[in-house]
Amino acid sequence: MTDIINLLPDNIANQIAAGEVIQRPASAVKELLENAVDADATEIQLYIKDAGKELVQVIDNGGGMSETDARMCFERHATSKIKTIEDLFQIRTMGFRGEALASIAAVSQVELKTRQTGKDIGTYIEIDNSSVKKQEPCSTTEGTSIAMKNLFFNVPARRNFLKSNAAEMRHIVDEFIRVALSFPQIQFSLHSNGQQLFQLDKGSLKQRIVGILGQSYNAKLVTVKESTDYMNVYGFVGKPETAKKTRGDQFFFVNNRFIKSSYLNHAVMNAFADMIPADSYPLYVLFIDVNPAHVDINVHPTKQEIKFDDEKVMYAFVQAAIKHALAQFSVTPTLDFDL
Ligand code: ADP
Ligand code: MG
Repeated sequence: MTDIINLLPDNIANQIAAGEVIQRPASAVKELLENAVDADATEIQLYIKDAGKELVQVIDNGGGMSETDARMCFERHATSKIKTIEDLFQIRTMGFRGEALASIAAVSQVELKTRQTGKDIGTYIEIDNSSVKKQEPCSTTEGTSIAMKNLFFNVPARRNFLKSNAAEMRHIVDEFIRVALSFPQIQFSLHSNGQQLFQLDKGSLKQRIVGILGQSYNAKLVTVKESTDYMNVYGFVGKPETAKKTRGDQFFFVNNRFIKSSYLNHAVMNAFADMIPADSYPLYVLFIDVNPAHVDINVHPTKQEIKFDDEKVMYAFVQAAIKHALAQFSVTPTLDFDL
């Protein structure tokens, strides 16, 4: 019998793994923005060309990387954010899997410029299909700029699978808004094909919401704020009059991470029952803080699905917090408007 098993070369292994993390330009937007947040940036700029198919670039003024780290960050499982298995249950950063940059580098052409705070000189690196094409010292501002070019240039089947520019751009804006909402203390901007779509100055959560949704929401947000020993819920819900027939303005963040949860969404809908028409969706931007030991965020590579150790407590608490908020502001139920 001959042996037939061989280890896949890194670039192929990375390309396969990339399929889970980088599905479309918006996935890279999420990962690059989160890296900038984790680097303690106070200003983050996102530049897009051709709905991200040509370029997704994130420029931050965070801590930057050393020359060695600038090379290391593209290796799979390379991360500065966890060291031990115990760390996995006390995650305070957005990233921790050390997969995003390796995945991006496997399916695009990457240009990285980075300079550590207080250092005189930075590092420039060019990567193509997981291999370093160029590395040299460079002068650049403090912080990091990562440009992902020509996504899936080396995986034509995936490139063809991308949707229209309008559809891909919607995904990008969604990811941008989710990160921007969870960090109102950071300044964000988004440019697409040379046009500025968002310029969000740092401020309060309310200012951030209004900056994204529009000034008219200023008087239409109701504060939610409730705590127990187990968890905090805070944020805003829209007054019933702002409920829309379409979904889209519903945001849950658990420990500052955007998550999708039809279960918790149901809790909010329940709290609004009788106040809004049955086929409409209330606006909400809600943050749940809970001891990281009570949630598992490592259910899926994109970390948008999470598991709570006690879902029922969450549900009841969220629902009660919103009912309480709506009652306190004595909002007139829309059903009474016709009287
Ligand atoms: P993770 O975020 O899960 O650690 P990534 O592949 O996204 O994995 O990044 C790998 C590492 O590269 C990070 O742990 C961090 O040390 C470094 N890094 C990535 N982006 C930046 C950035 N914008 N500024 C500083 N360091 C960065
Ligand atoms: Mg990351």
